[in-house]
This record gives sequence, structure tokens and C-alpha cells, in this order.
Amino acid sequence: MRDRIVAGNWKMNKDWDQALSLVADIQQSLSQETTNSDKIILAPPFIYLAELAKTVAQTQGLFLSAQNCHQEEAGAYTGEVSAPMLKALGVEYVILGHSERREYFSETNELLASKVEAVLNQNLKPIFCCGEPLSVRESNMQEAYVNQQLTESLFKLSAERISEIVIAYEPIWAIGTGRTASAEQAQEMHASIRSHLADQYGHDIAQGISILYGGSCKPSNANEIFAGADVDGGLIGGASLNAADFLAIARSFE
Ligand code: PEP
Repeated sequence: MRDRIVAGNWKMNKDWDQALSLVADIQQSLSQETTNSDKIILAPPFIYLAELAKTVAQTQGLFLSAQNCHQEEAGAYTGEVSAPMLKALGVEYVILGHSERREYFSETNELLASKVEAVLNQNLKPIFCCGEPLSVRESNMQEAYVNQQLTESLFKLSAERISEIVIAYEPIWAIGTGRTASAEQAQEMHASIRSHLADQYGHDIAQGISILYGGSCKPSNANEIFAGADVDGGLIGGASLNAADFLAIARSFE
């Protein structure tokens, strides 16, 4: 019913030759053995998107995402990239609100609400990241913290628009740390997110939204995490830089 998705966030990694070779390895492997994911999404750095769009389009089930975009459609914003520019290349997803953007580039819930709108205005799909820092987890306030992120960035959207969104729950203490949330912790938070969506938009809409887990997901733990009833796949950082690991994760659904 919901899309099962594995998305790879390359962050600021891979030179051009390495990027080409990673995509070629992924395509080669997918031509030999499919996965049980409905969608596999690659989020390379901006400058690779135009060229990779040509090759990725040839592989069924493989899609491209940007890692960010600006909230305005065009203008004097040196160094920025807009949603219409991404749309024109054939990109289909945009990661928004990654914790690194929130921390290093001061992205607030309010700013992210405008980025989400900008992306949806182009019929692109946001992969909206949320998740709590360690201090919040240690005081057991993670549900309220994540609910506030969702409320302030997403809950002004219409029911029709929220259905276009993919949510990625990424506890900050698990990102790039090797410390993964347990399958129980992930399922508990995903169920909480879905219940907030249901409170706001009703059961049917909440049931249709894919919620991905992110945070040190790897081939050895993906199967257990993805088994959660409300876990619809993963947003993968480090392990997405290696084709074999990434595809092993994409094959981790029951
Ligand atoms: C991420 O950055 O979105 C992420 C989940 O990273 P990692 O898999 O490396 O923890």
C-alpha cells in the first residue's frame, strides 16, 4: 500500500569519476537482481544531477533526489539552487530539513515550511527529515520534539499536498555515529509520527505516507528495522556510498 523506499544521501562525497562508477555499479546490480523496494532514490551533490538524470532515467525504480533547495523560485541568491531548476532536470525528490542543514546552515522549522511549499509547487516530492538530538532523547521528550517539527513545517499543508511527502525520521544521535536506534525505538517513533499525521489529516492519509528511518542503517541491521509495521524503508548516509551495501539494504524488506 505504501511505497517501500530506500534513499541514499551521498552528502558532499564522491568525485565525479567515483559518482559515475557508483551509479554504474548500482545499475549493473539492479539489472541482474531486483530488490523488493518500490523505489530506490539517489541523492548526489547538486552538480551531478544533470548528467546522472540521463542515466538514472533508464533504470526502472531508480530516482534522483537533491539534498536541498532554496525556497524562492529565482533571484539574487548567490550559490543557491531552486526547485524549478531541479524539476527541469528530471529530479523527482528533494531532501529537506536534514539535521546537518538545520545545524550548520541554521535551517528552522519555519524556513523549512517555505522550502516544502517551494518543492511541492513544482510537483517534486520532499523527503522531509525530522528527529531529536541526544539531550532530548535522554529526557524522553522525543515525541513532542518531532511533533513540533512536523507541526511547524508541514501541518499547514492541505491533505492533498501532505500525501506527496515522504518523511524521514532520523534521530540525530544515530546519524553517522554507528549508534543505531533499536528496531523498537524506530517503530515507536514511526507509529507516533503516523498517529500525529492521522490526528491532523485522518487515518487514510496517514496510512498512505511513507516514513523512512535514518541513522547508521546498514546491511546488518536494516532487516530488523524495516520489519517495523510503520517503517517503510530508510534514508541511508554512509552505507549508500557503497553499491553492495546500499543494495543489500534495499533488499532488506520482508
Ligand atoms: C543521514 O545522514 O541521513 C544518515 C542517515 O547518515 P548515516 O546513515 O551515515 O547515519
